Amino acid sequence: MDSEERPRNLTQYKRFRTNDEGRKTFTSIDQIRTEASIERIYDRYEQLVALDPTLPKLHRGDHARYLQVSLERLSTAYESLDSSRPWMVYWILNSASILNLRFSHELMDRVVDFLIKCRCKTGGFGGGPGQDAHLATTYAAVNSLCIIGTEKALNAIDRHTLKQFMWAVRESNGAFRMHIGGELDVRGAYCAISSAKLCSFTPEEELKLFEGTSSWIAECQTYEGGFGGAPDLEAHGGYSFCAAAALMLLGGENQCDLNALFRWTINRQMAYEGGFQGRTNKLVDGCYSFWQGALVPIVQSLIARKEGQQQVLNVSLFNRYALQEYVLICCQRPNGGLIDKPGKPADLYHTCYTLSGLAVAQHCETHSLPLVLGEEMNEVLPIHPVHNIPPKAAMEAYRYFIELDQPASAANEEQCNGKQDDVPMDGSTGNGSSEQNSSSHMSESGSSSSNYTSSRTSED
Ligand SMILES: [Zn+2]
Repeated sequence: MDSEERPRNLTQYKRFRTNDEGRKTFTSIDQIRTEASIERIYDRYEQLVALDPTLPKLHRGDHARYLQVSLERLSTAYESLDSSRPWMVYWILNSASILNLRFSHELMDRVVDFLIKCRCKTGGFGGGPGQDAHLATTYAAVNSLCIIGTEKALNAIDRHTLKQFMWAVRESNGAFRMHIGGELDVRGAYCAISSAKLCSFTPEEELKLFEGTSSWIAECQTYEGGFGGAPDLEAHGGYSFCAAAALMLLGGENQCDLNALFRWTINRQMAYEGGFQGRTNKLVDGCYSFWQGALVPIVQSLIARKEGQQQVLNVSLFNRYALQEYVLICCQRPNGGLIDKPGKPADLYHTCYTLSGLAVAQHCETHSLPLVLGEEMNEVLPIHPVHNIPPKAAMEAYRYFIELDQPASAANEEQCNGKQDDVPMDGSTGNGSSEQNSSSHMSESGSSSSNYTSSRTSED
């Protein structure tokens, strides 16, 4: 795709403005209004870049401060998210790791202690201390503990009761409820398989626990090509990500129409704005930079695995510069934090997923150098597109739990055999090398990614 070879000339892109041909609808009015607000920002940016050619800039220091403050104390605006506290921890830790922001060991220890309080006796993690276990907050807690990556953090996951909780929310057809007696949708399957992979459940356990899950997920694919939350619901970016990532981890690529999913996904990138929408005819939104953006390399990997064509992975199939323009020019708040779209306030959720989308846009081609818009300092660290945590954190969690289950001699032998730079997307350890240690990932400045070449300095 030629447009990916260089940043866009934004003036030229104005020809992609929506034309409602004089027939206004609520949707077209909203779309035209959104484009107008973005156009004002792009126009102003073009004036500013004439004065300062180093633009656009990632406001690392502002985002770092926003995250640091949020981890210690949240505003009352977050009161309604009291049952999502592991989520907030995860959004902060993952955003910080993408920015290579370091937190102290002491603070990370306190975070682990807090997540232990959210752990339920009957398995899984609740939304806060004393709350019932939920698959979404379990996913957030497991991801957070893997990002922290210390022995204490990984040992805070009780795999035995976690398996019991997963069995308690599993339906006989392989679908998963979000909590006991709760809603049944594709998020449940993804949260369960992602956590099971990171905790290295044995292949036999996985086979039983996820029997029928791929087929049930396939039933959620719609006529458009994307996936709904459950069968017969509208295709949606978040659910499509969950479905494709789960199929990646389960080896279920033969169960759905990958070409239709691929076509639907890449058509969710907005021609003028550069970011992604979550559903057909909806507005651009920063968080879909990840949900849809990460879907592209995942679907590419599913197609490559199904057809045995690895070269499919070496092509950019969405406009990676345009997505970075939307994130860097339109989605950064001056005081830190990232947003859905211009005019919206910053929040931790959008900060995490908009930054995750930036990481995908820069690093999604496994065997190429990062594609970075603007100065080198705009480069962020890569994420594992399926789990959305640092690739090294995912690999070390897999291996930590495998080694817990193995006799010491076998674990050592495996450790000596490995030599591999890339972390596979499907949750397999392959022959990957282990860099097992007890340090926190949050305190490391390096990256295990083969395509991350620059050394970053954090601004904390
Ligand atoms: Zn959003």
